[in-house]
Amino acid sequence: MHASNAMPTKRKNAKLLRCPTCGMLVRATDDDFPFCSDRCRKIDLGKWASGAYKISSSVIDPEVLEDLGLGGVNHGGGNE
Ligand SMILES: [Zn+2]
Repeated sequence: MHASNAMPTKRKNAKLLRCPTCGMLVRATDDDFPFCSDRCRKIDLGKWASGAYKISSSVIDPEVLEDLGLGGVNHGGGNE
């Protein structure tokens, strides 16, 4: 298959990706790539941590989390 139309490679610019945390454009040459900063990297790590909750939520009821003192973490209604 020759899909030569897909991606022009004439650009000399470094590859740009969006920071997974804030959506800011980040160059592939950046130290913190694919994040725009160390701060966003750490924020994303936090997301992964909370992602573990989602995976576990299929076997752990919210009520159980609440019983463990973890309830309300995913509420998101405390800052309104
Ligand atoms: Zn960022």
